Formats: sequence, structure tokens, C-alpha cells
Amino acid sequence: MTTRKKSFKGGYRFRNFKGEPVDTIDRLPSPKQVLIPLKRSTGAEVQPLVQAGDTVQAGQIIGRSDDAVSSPVHATVYGTVTALKKRDLLGEPVTVAVIDTGEKKEGGGFLPLKGASPEWQNLSRETIEELFYLSGVSGLGSGMPTRWNSSVISAGDVTHIIIHSGENDLFQPSPSVFLKGAGSGSFSAGIRILKKLYTEADVSIVVREDNKGLISKLNTMPEIQNSTLVLTKPKYPQDKEEVLVSTVLGKEYPYGFSAIHMGVLVVPFQSILHIAEAVILGKPVIERTIALGGESFEQNRHVTVPIGTPLEDVLHSRLSSGNHRIVMDSLNSGLGVEDLSTPVLWDTRGVIAIPEGTEGEMLGFAMPGFMKDSYSVTFASRFLPIKKRVTTNIHGEHRACLQCGFCINVCPVQILPNLLFRYVERGIIEDSLAAFNIFNCIDCNLCTYVCTSKLPVAGMIKTGKEKMRKEGIDPAAETARRHELKGLKIQEGQD
Ligand code: SF4
Ligand code: SF4
Repeated sequence: MTTRKKSFKGGYRFRNFKGEPVDTIDRLPSPKQVLIPLKRSTGAEVQPLVQAGDTVQAGQIIGRSDDAVSSPVHATVYGTVTALKKRDLLGEPVTVAVIDTGEKKEGGGFLPLKGASPEWQNLSRETIEELFYLSGVSGLGSGMPTRWNSSVISAGDVTHIIIHSGENDLFQPSPSVFLKGAGSGSFSAGIRILKKLYTEADVSIVVREDNKGLISKLNTMPEIQNSTLVLTKPKYPQDKEEVLVSTVLGKEYPYGFSAIHMGVLVVPFQSILHIAEAVILGKPVIERTIALGGESFEQNRHVTVPIGTPLEDVLHSRLSSGNHRIVMDSLNSGLGVEDLSTPVLWDTRGVIAIPEGTEGEMLGFAMPGFMKDSYSVTFASRFLPIKKRVTTNIHGEHRACLQCGFCINVCPVQILPNLLFRYVERGIIEDSLAAFNIFNCIDCNLCTYVCTSKLPVAGMIKTGKEKMRKEGIDPAAETARRHELKGLKIQEGQD
């Protein structure tokens, strides 16, 4: 396998924190109820094929709309549909199918798709494409193109597939858990299946340069040796699509659009296993392995649950006592969750629970800080191999900007967060902010994390972007003119 080393300017390495998930997976019993949204992270809401009172099996398609950009959704447990209702899900109203299992059962069984085979090499491209669509694999991430409307681009538009281990943010799933035991064979089969479907695409596998165990494992997989192994510096936000794509391909990212518009599929490790399961076993995407990160969990492990499992079932009896903040996927850029009926979804990576740090801390910056992370050399943790803590405490008071420049140093898209912060804070919303590339901000929140003065820099920049869009200032049209983007017509048609 060809190996290349690549990196990006800025970013920050999170190292040695309490609460990182260990490499073990528990399968949780099916919950009493699952909530399945009839809409994936991208694409349109699908038409329900069931109604209240229907009995469904795990793997049965319960919603599908072949005319709109979308992929089918499935029941993920055996049970009875008790309602189809609108509800707010992570800030968006969607129709949700509520399925009661009646009593808790072991998960794992499913209704297999016809056509799948362990001898997948003998399957036609058309059959593989059909399995991608009917299994719901095509709805992962930004959508994988099939001859149905599962993506805004067509299969022939895919020029590059970037498979990434996603390990540079805090408390992420460990990529090694997906390659344990049979996982390693499924992983290499999944990559070859992708390559069979998207024949013109180059494949890059991106991992951290310091994950020696993973690198040597990948190097022992002869079937994937025609891929490129890209070793990156262990810095956040390497795995954010905007940074990942420009790091790997060396191309300017079309801010305001996504990698799919460049003909690039960005695929996490776990999705590769979903692909192998769909095509080899006929298994629809009905369950998800997620990481339990953060020191509020009694044990930091990975758990496999049916998609649609409410977070309260995941958290049940796994949290220590006290008050905790629950965040989906990323402490840096994920959403805080108060409604614990929020379900695990197709792209959920993990649940993070950290203690609410309610105690005030006068002159926190003057403490030795043995367990506090330190971007500068302020705290002793910089020099000691002690596991550091993450709580919601900001360890200090808001102050005026000191012009220390830390936010500029870490910004992965090379804009001036301190300057943008000052403009928006003073209510100056004008074209010049676009000239300072405010729309290139990818909301990674690193500027806020390292700010010496505890200023909400990233939040203010986000507010600025929203206000500018409200005033009709949005450089997306100009971006579209400068880049050769794919799939825009279909997307406009959807709107
Ligand atoms: S300005 Fe945006 S991209 Fe830059 S560090 Fe702050 S949040 Fe991240
Ligand atoms: S990190 Fe905070 S204090 Fe330092 S320049 Fe940026 S905004 Fe100002």
C-alpha cells in the first residue's frame, strides 16, 4: 500500500484525558421502544409504508421514496408500530415511527435482503447497487449514489473515496474495535465492494500517524493494498470533512457545499462494516456501535444498540451519581442533549457525559492545574503524565481579549477569529466579514477552547454567519462559480 504523510495548519492535539472509551463492545438488549425518524441526515423525508397497529420485523422497510433524494428506513426491532408522529429531533421537526417491542429482547436478528452472498465477488454491479439502496447503506453520510435517488450525484461522478478512522476528537469510537476478530475481514471486503461499485474512484484510508497497531494491521490486509494509506498528525479537527478532504486531496474545499459536490465520498470505518454486512449477509443498517465517552460513565466502553434506541436506555445505570451534561458525538462541535428520548441515529458516533462543573473558581488560572488541559504552559498538566479531566467548568472568568493570538494559531481554516469576534460582538454585520472569510469557519470551536480570556469566540462567529445570511450576504453562489461542483441541479430540483 502506498503510504503518504499529510497534515494541516493549526488544530490541536487532545491527549491523555480521563474517560476515553476502551476497545470493548457490549451488545445491549433491545429497548422497550425505538423511535425511527423517516429522514436520514441528508435527503428528504420518506413516505411511511406502515401505519399504527402494524407488526414489523427488524430489517423491514417502513419508509421509502424513490423519487426524492433519500434512502429507505427500516424497523430496527421486532414489534408493533404504535404511532407515526412529528417530533423535534436535534433542532428539526421530522416524522418518527414509534415501535414498541413489548418486552426487552436480545437484539441481533433481522430480515435478510435477497441477493446478498458471501461470494459477493460473483454478484453483478447492479445487484450490489440494489443491496446498497435496500439496506439503507446508501443513506449513510452525505449519501452514496445508486441508480435510485440516494445521492445528489451519480455513481460515475465519484472520483475519490476517503475512509477515515475518526480518532482525533475527544472520546471518539476507537477504530480498532471495528477491526477486531471478523471485523478485519469485513473491513477489507467492504472496501473492495465499494471499489467494485465506484470503479473510477481512488481510495484513501486515513489514520493517525501514531496509531502504530492500526497501521500495521492495515498493512497486513493484502486485499486493500491498491489503496493509499494517509498518515495524519493526531490533531483535531482532522476528521471534519472540510479539513479531511483538503488535507488528503490538497484541493480547496468549497465552503458552503460538501465533499459530495466534489465527487468525494467520506466514509467512516463503521460504515465500511455496514457495507460488508449488507452485501455479504443481506443485513440492513439497523444497529450502531457507539462510544460512551467522558468521566461521568462508570465504564467507558462501546455499545451496540438498535438504531432508534432512546439515549435514556443507553445511559440507564451507566452513569455515576451527580449532575452530568450529555452531548452527542463531539464535545467540541456536537449538540448538548436535554431530552433523553432522543434516539441513536444511523451516523451517531457516541454519547459523551461529563460532570457539570458548577463550582466557581476565582483566579482559576493561578492554580497549579494538575488535571486541567493547557494550550499554553499555564498549568502543570502540560508537563505531567496525569490523566486530565473534562468538566463543564470554564476554569476562570471572562476577560477582555488579550491579543494572545492563540485562536489564530489553532484555527484550521486560517481565518482571524479574534477579529471576527470583535466585529460581531459590536454588531458590525457587513460584507467585509465575508472578505475576512467568516463563512470558511467550520464551527470546530477550537478558538473558544484555547481562548485565554474565556471568550465565546466560535459562538459569536456562528451568530455572525447566521445574521449575515438573514441579511442576504452568503458567498455560496460565488463558491459555486469558482468550483466545478457536481449534483447542484438535482439538489435545486429537490428544493
Ligand atoms: S474560527 Fe471557526 S474554524 Fe476557526 S477555530 Fe474558531 S470555530 Fe474553528
Ligand atoms: S485567544 Fe482569546 S484572548 Fe487570545 S487573541 Fe483570541 S480572542 Fe483574544
